[in-house]
Amino acid sequence: MANADTQNYYFATTPPPPPHAPLAGEVRADVCIVGGGISGLSAALHLAERGFTVALLEAKHLGFGGSGRSGGQTIFGYASGQEKLEKLVGAADARYMWDIALEGMKLQRELIAKHSIACDYVAGHMHVGVKARHDAELRAEVESLQETYGYRSVRLVGHEELRTLVPSERYTMGIYDSNSGHLQPYKYTLGLGAAAARAGVKIFENSRVTKLAFTTNPNSDTLVHSESGVVRARHLLIAGNALLGRLVPELASKLMAVGTYIAATEVLGAERASALITNNAAVADINWVLDYFRRSADHRLLFGGRVSYSGVDPFDSARVLRKRIQRVFPRLHDTRIEYAWGGYVDITPNRAPHFGRLAPNVYFLQGFSGHGMVLSGIAGKLVAEAIAGTAGRFDVFAKIPHRNFPGGTYFRRPALVLAMLWFRLKDLL
Ligand SMILES: Cc1cc2nc3c(=O)[nH]c(=O)nc-3n(C[C@H](O)[C@H](O)[C@H](O)COP(=O)(O)OP(=O)(O)OC[C@H]3O[C@@H](n4cnc5c(N)ncnc54)[C@H](O)[C@@H]3O)c2cc1C
Repeated sequence: MANADTQNYYFATTPPPPPHAPLAGEVRADVCIVGGGISGLSAALHLAERGFTVALLEAKHLGFGGSGRSGGQTIFGYASGQEKLEKLVGAADARYMWDIALEGMKLQRELIAKHSIACDYVAGHMHVGVKARHDAELRAEVESLQETYGYRSVRLVGHEELRTLVPSERYTMGIYDSNSGHLQPYKYTLGLGAAAARAGVKIFENSRVTKLAFTTNPNSDTLVHSESGVVRARHLLIAGNALLGRLVPELASKLMAVGTYIAATEVLGAERASALITNNAAVADINWVLDYFRRSADHRLLFGGRVSYSGVDPFDSARVLRKRIQRVFPRLHDTRIEYAWGGYVDITPNRAPHFGRLAPNVYFLQGFSGHGMVLSGIAGKLVAEAIAGTAGRFDVFAKIPHRNFPGGTYFRRPALVLAMLWFRLKDLL
């Protein structure tokens, strides 16, 4: 993204963490992890707690990717929805995955408590409709969640009540979930990083992995090269997700890295900020090209949206987001945008997560499709279990079928543009 790191509200306002030196020379470890986001750090922490030696290589700094840029919305379930998952893997496995997603939410709160991670966690989340036809979708979803999945923390919020919670003309009705919520994602990621380092994980920043050398022989080591060194390890986890680029072409072809942008307003003060979302829940509309917003701990509005169709930064994301904020809250017409930044969301064509192995000891995690704040943490735990010899839970996910993105690797971007235009059109109907 062209936006400099100083434009990221989280980077600019979080006390700088202690840096980790780049990789130098050869390092040995039981497990090497590529990527210092929530996936990689959660796996590292869980592996270290199980007694493995771990070396983690991060191209830039911890939280540089989606984990330090996200809207911070911690949302139940999967972006694909349960119905789609049932079609992909059958009802029993879909149910199994649902339980794991819920475990992910519990795990997140446990990690925050256990490692005293001060990341401004707040419970409460709302999905809101913007069209009359969305009401039927929301009703059906609550019914299915409550009746089929026994998920009792969700409830419908009718139009009148919604207007007291989010005083805006834009929304029809919504679903409130007391089990979902929001947090400051960069602080959460750094908290996991600090816990991993305390548990003995060797973290190397400014250490982009440029080459991987592994075989299908489970008894041979993997070599993970950066420009300044190499890690020799028995196991490898690739957790570079949307920023992995072309390092592993077969992973790139399954993932759409979709640009999304967030703006942070100037500090509004407690009274003005509270009046925008009176229950302090995170809010996301149910359009495919969605708006998502929440209050920050220092009383700003953080507002995300405006998916970029072409992968090119919009000329002025702050200006575009300002218009979208005003569409929801006209009262903020004279409010300044103080920060605006972007990032790539890791989306698979079927919006189910993409986990698996490239060889018996080479694992990967990617494609959380907008639910990564919760799922990446539990995914790291599942990989740790698998590496420790209990792969059952990981393998249920590894069985999800994923197609290559239409158009093949080289035509991916134009195909993405078309796909996004189609979804945008659907939202407008
Ligand atoms: C703007 C934005 C808003 C979002 N909002 C939400 C939200 O509200 N709720 C939600 O659930 N999800 C949201 N997401 C998605 C969520 O942030 C991600 O799914 C999640 O952070 C993925 O975590 P990760 O650890 O798998 O990947 P990342 O956090 O992207 O971490 C991958 C890391 O790997 C590193 N890396 C890549 N290649 C290499 C290499 N070759 N060598 C070494 N290191 C490498 C990168 O630098 C990066 O730090 C959002 C994403 C963005 C960008």
